[in-house]
Formats: sequence, structure tokens, C-alpha cells
Amino acid sequence: MAPTHALRNTPAAVVLNALEALTEKKVPARKRQDIHHLDPLLHSPRQNRLLAALSEKEYETLLSHLELVRLPLGRSVYGACDLQKYLYFLTEGIVSRFYVMENGSTAEFAATGNEGVIGLATFLGGNSTPSQSSVVSAGYAYRMRGDRVRGDISLGGRLPHLLLRYAMALTIQAGQTAACNRHHTVRQQLCSLLLASTDRLHSNEVKITQDLIADELGVRRESVTEAMGHMQGLGVIRHSRGRVVVLNRAGLEAAACECYAVMKHEQERVASSCSQGHGH
Ligand SMILES: [Zn+2]
Repeated sequence: MAPTHALRNTPAAVVLNALEALTEKKVPARKRQDIHHLDPLLHSPRQNRLLAALSEKEYETLLSHLELVRLPLGRSVYGACDLQKYLYFLTEGIVSRFYVMENGSTAEFAATGNEGVIGLATFLGGNSTPSQSSVVSAGYAYRMRGDRVRGDISLGGRLPHLLLRYAMALTIQAGQTAACNRHHTVRQQLCSLLLASTDRLHSNEVKITQDLIADELGVRRESVTEAMGHMQGLGVIRHSRGRVVVLNRAGLEAAACECYAVMKHEQERVASSCSQGHGH
């Protein structure tokens, strides 16, 4: 489980490792049993915002290379230093990118929903990352071999540009998370996490345990329990085993740190740059 690199849980290390994660090299492989024969009519690749931004012609060309994959809760999409052969374009659910330290403690530095993709190392020139990508909200993705996209660069397709734009957004997210971990309270971070999760899930309910939240934030479970209890006392959320319901979104926004708004804004900028080139 632990990455091969000695990582220190400092904000600077998190940023550096996040950047390194986009260019790193290494080996192993993934199993094929993740592939399920699911109904593509219920899960269009266009539900992913990057794929939705492609011209009809480019989309049609890529379609035969996309395979629908189920992403059950807890599934590791890529472990630390796994060879990343595929790009996973999420259509539903949330995948968290995080580090596992040598002592087993964890911290998330970025999350991805249907606005993005997992496996950028295959495209950016590295083959793996020292970080891991795991499913924190069950969903689906369409996956495609990375060498397929690399081939597209010479063909002048739009997808390479979109992947680079998303890599930039990820870098911003990682940097903001590093500052957030350093300067904002667990309560503020919890509220930001819940807001971002409800946005990605298009729901006011998030199926998530306190243990998982603690892993994502890199804090003790007791701190999450205290923060959840406080927000429930204010009537902003209701939580029960493995489930958090947002009752008062404005209240949650008021209690969140500024990081939620910064990351939301960046997501909207990516979406806008995607839609600007649509059809070209
Ligand atoms: Zn923050």
C-alpha cells in the first residue's frame, strides 16, 4: 500500500508530489475483471464533461475505443506506482486522489467526478504516480487506452488539449488543498468536502462514512465526529451511519472555507473552456 517514495505530509510536499504525480514513471498492471457488460444507453460517454466537449467527428472516432467500467465504492482505480494504461473518464461517482504515508496515514489532494479523468500519467508522459486513486462514491467510467490519445496528438484532435486543461485544474486543486490542510479547521474542511461532493453527485445526500472522511481530510476520526455533531446541532446536516444529508446548503456554504468556492470556480472555468470549443 505505501508509496515507494518517502513522503512527508507537509503542504509543500503535497504540492510537489501532486506535480510529480503528473509526470512520474514506473510499472505493474491492472486486472481486466473490472469490465462489465453494462447498458451503454443508460451511461453515455457524453455524461463525462470532457468527452461531451468533443466535436461529433472526434467523438465518433473515439467511441469504439471506449469501454464502460463499473466503479464500486472502495475500488482502487490505480494504486501507487501502478502502470497507468488507461484513461478513466468518469460519468458518475467520485474518485479521490490521495497519498498513503509510510505510517499508514492518508490525505487527499484532489477529487474527480464527471468533470474529469483518472490516469493522466499515461497521457502526460509518465506511466504512474506515487499517489493512489480510489473510488469514494460509487459510479461508472468509460476507459480508453492512453496510447490511443497520444496517437491523436498528431491528428490534431481536441482531446489532448482538454486533458492538458484538466491537468492544470488538478494542479490548482492540489495547491488549494495543501493550503487548506494547513490553515483551515476540520469543520471548515468538512463543509467544503460535503459541498463539493453534493455538487459532483448532483444530490443533497452523500453516502460516506466518518472513517472515509477522516482518511480524505487526513485527520483523526474523532475530529470528524465532533465537526459532524456540531453541524448537525445547527440543523445544517443530518448524518447517520454511512450517510450525510445536507438540510441547509446556505448554512453549509457559510461554514465552509473559501477553498470550496475557489475550486468550484476553477471547475467552472474548465467547463467553460470545454464548451467554448465545442463543435470545433
Ligand atoms: Zn480550506
